[in-house]
Formats: sequence, structure tokens, C-alpha cells
Amino acid sequence: MGFEITDRVAELNAQLEAFMQTHVYPREHDYEEFTLNPENLWQTPPWFDELRSQAKDAGLWNLFLPREYEPWSPGLTNLEIATLFETMSKVTWAQPVFNCSAPDRGNMEVLAKYGTPEQQEAWLNPLLEGEIRSAYAMTEPQVASSDATNMELQIKRDGDEYVLNGRKWWTTGAVGPRCKVMLVMGQTDPNASRHKQHSTILVPRDTPGVELVRPLRVFDSLHSPGGEAELVFNDVRVPVTNMIKGEGCGFEIAQGRLGPGRFQYAMGFVGLAQRCLELMCERAEDRVAFGEKLSKKTSVQHEIARSRCEIEQCRLLTLQAAEVMDNGGLDAARPYISMVKIVAPQMAQNVADRAMQVFGGKGVCQDTLIPSVFTRARFCRIADGPDEVHMSQLGKMTLRELATG
Ligand SMILES: Cc1cc2nc3c(=O)[nH]c(=O)nc-3n(C[C@H](O)[C@H](O)[C@H](O)COP(=O)(O)OP(=O)(O)OC[C@H]3O[C@@H](n4cnc5c(N)ncnc54)[C@H](O)[C@@H]3O)c2cc1C
Repeated sequence: MGFEITDRVAELNAQLEAFMQTHVYPREHDYEEFTLNPENLWQTPPWFDELRSQAKDAGLWNLFLPREYEPWSPGLTNLEIATLFETMSKVTWAQPVFNCSAPDRGNMEVLAKYGTPEQQEAWLNPLLEGEIRSAYAMTEPQVASSDATNMELQIKRDGDEYVLNGRKWWTTGAVGPRCKVMLVMGQTDPNASRHKQHSTILVPRDTPGVELVRPLRVFDSLHSPGGEAELVFNDVRVPVTNMIKGEGCGFEIAQGRLGPGRFQYAMGFVGLAQRCLELMCERAEDRVAFGEKLSKKTSVQHEIARSRCEIEQCRLLTLQAAEVMDNGGLDAARPYISMVKIVAPQMAQNVADRAMQVFGGKGVCQDTLIPSVFTRARFCRIADGPDEVHMSQLGKMTLRELATG
């Protein structure tokens, strides 16, 4: 278990670090100053696209696609990608600068894996170029959506078209004007076996009948410029060629969509937590209370130590998960995929909580990224499947493995 880094990845990582130092950290607060200003609702900061162009020109682009997706992939293994994700995630809004953010990365992977050449030409290429953004619409308000087989939105064939009727919510990115396409999961055959009833279909965001009911607030934030949408689908018609892979494959796509994405997601939290730890240490060295620096207080030292242990545990677990995926494939990696999904957001939530405490009042205002790390980690313990679902899956897998030796 060496997790050896090739020269190429060491070089890419150094490039990413330099890019973060030169272009991202200096603008860290500018992004939220702009996006949280109600006058700029659903707009992207004017300098943001320039930053994306610079990252693209530097070759720091689409690093998320593992090498089985060549020619679209830069040819890296999951282990190599995981390493880079820690570096590019140390600011909450940095992943899209490198065209590596959710939900686009999962959607691009689906299109690369299952898309027809026409679907890839229409949607994958512009996504890879960073010209458009996308959304994934599975969750529905009226059913427990942690169980993907519960989805009720109807997808019915009518000649050369499919007609969609139903309601979705928590569709990340679908409020902002940059979202041009959605991957929508719905029911095509209620009589099929439980895991074959659903399908995933491409719906251009501006298709007649797709109506925005409201943007949802997450802990009082509208998450502009992408937002989380509640949507109604009212007789929405798309050509049959928009179906991905085939009728009945929706559940399989939902599961597969989050495979390699899980390591990237977990490493994103490692990056954010590491940044909180670094800030916590700086603050503890700078701040004097009751005659001594905070860093001299045993309780603060313990919080720093605890945070370092938890970050390192999560980092190593995630690298191990990525290595198992590279060497043993998705089946071998399944328990690890659950493990990192359970461990990473909780770890980041804990570290951010401690950093917040060490910062005092400054830790809960807009002057550091700590509150946004805390809230993101908290909602990610629900989004993409709640903790309990992954724990039950991991528990069952563990029992099975032990029973079969
Ligand atoms: C900020 C944010 C962004 C999101 N983005 C998207 C997106 O882009 N696209 C999309 O489709 N969805 C998205 N979601 C939705 C998210 O994936 C769902 O909220 C999640 O899957 C849970 O579904 P639910 O809300 O219906 O909760 P429910 O299924 O009603 O579950 C509620 C609670 O029940 C408990 N529970 C459920 N199952 C079990 C179990 N097996 N054992 C024990 N307890 C259990 C858990 O505590 C769970 O939190 C997002 C959510 C958030 C908050």
C-alpha cells in the first residue's frame, strides 16, 4: 500500500497548487461577495470564465475522467485523480474552475459511458469544453428518494417521442441560466421488476413544459449561480433518441454514476478539511487570550491533533478505495465506495466545527470558508444518499463477506 505518485501526477499537482496560489486563493472571498449579493442572483462573477480559460489553457481541465474514458480522459488512474482532487478542492468554489464539479462530472461520465455518438456530440462535447452546465434530476418531493426505485415521474412513449409528467426537487444547478440539459430519471414500466422500471432520459432545460416551481434554500442560501430547483414536468416531449442506454436502465445509471465520483467527492472533503485545519492552526498561533496564544492551550492542541488524525484517516481510506477501484474494478471497490461516502462528510463537518470554535465570532461569518465547509458537509450527509443508506449497504456487504469467507 504505497500510493506511489508518478512524475506526471506530481507535476500536475504542483501546477494545480501554483494555480490555486496565484489565481484562486487571492479571489477566495470575491466569489461569495458576488454570488451572495442579491443584485447578482443567478449570475456568475465576471472574472470567473477568464479563470476557467486559464485553467483550460494550462491543461488543468477535465482531470476527473479516469483513463478508461480516453480520448476524453487525460489518462489518469482513480488513485492519481484522487490526489489531484485534494488540491483543487481547497476553496469551496474551485472545482468548477477546472471543469471538475458535480453534477457535471457524474453526468459527463454517464454520457461518456452510455451515450450514443449523437448524444455525445450534442451534450458531452459542450460539457467537456465547459460551454454549458447540466443537472441530474432524480429526487421527488412526494416519495422517499433515498430509495431510487420509488421514483414516480412518468416517461411514456408516444410514437417517436417520450412524454414526461411529474415533479422533481433538489435538482442541483437547474435554476441558473448556464444549465442547458438535464438527465431525468423516471418510470417507464411499472410492471417490470423493481430495478428495471426506471429509465434516464436527456431533457434540454428549455423544453416546453419544464417549469421552475421555486429555487430551494439550503441553510438560508440559494446556492446561486446554480441553485437547487423544484421542477414540474407537464407533458414534456423529447425525441426517443434522448433515452440513455435504453428503457429500464435508470437504476443502473443512478448507481454507476456515483462510482469513481465517490473518491473525488471524498477527496474534495479532505481538501476542504485540510484547509480548515491550516486556518485553525494559523489562528491559534495569532490569537492571544488570557495571556497566552490559543495554540498554547491544551484543549486547542487536542482539537488540532484530533482533526489531523481524522483527515489523514480519511485521506488514506480514500486513496485505498481508489487503488482498489483501479486494480479490482467496481465490484471490489463497492465496500470502499460506501466507506468513503460515510466517513468523508462527517469528518469535514467535525473539522469545520472545531475550526469554527477556535475562530470564535470570525468563524461563523463570511471572512473564512469555514461556515460553507460546515454546511456543505452537513447537507452532503443527506445528498447522494443519506448516511444510513450507505451504512446499511456496507453492513450487509460485510455480513455477506464474512459469511462466505
Ligand atoms: C443540497 C442538496 C443537493 C441535492 N442535489 C440533488 C441533485 O442534484 N439531484 C437529485 O436527484 N437529488 C439531489 N438531492 C437530493 C438527495 O439526493 C436526497 O435528498 C436524498 O437522496 C434523500 O432523499 P429524501 O430527501 O427523499 O429523504 P428520504 O428518502 O425521505 O429519507 C429521509 C431520512 O430517512 C432516513 N433513512 C432513509 N433510508 C434509511 C435506511 N435505509 N435506514 C435508516 N434510515 C434511513 C435517513 O435519515 C434519511 O435522511 C440533493 C439534496 C440536497 C440537500
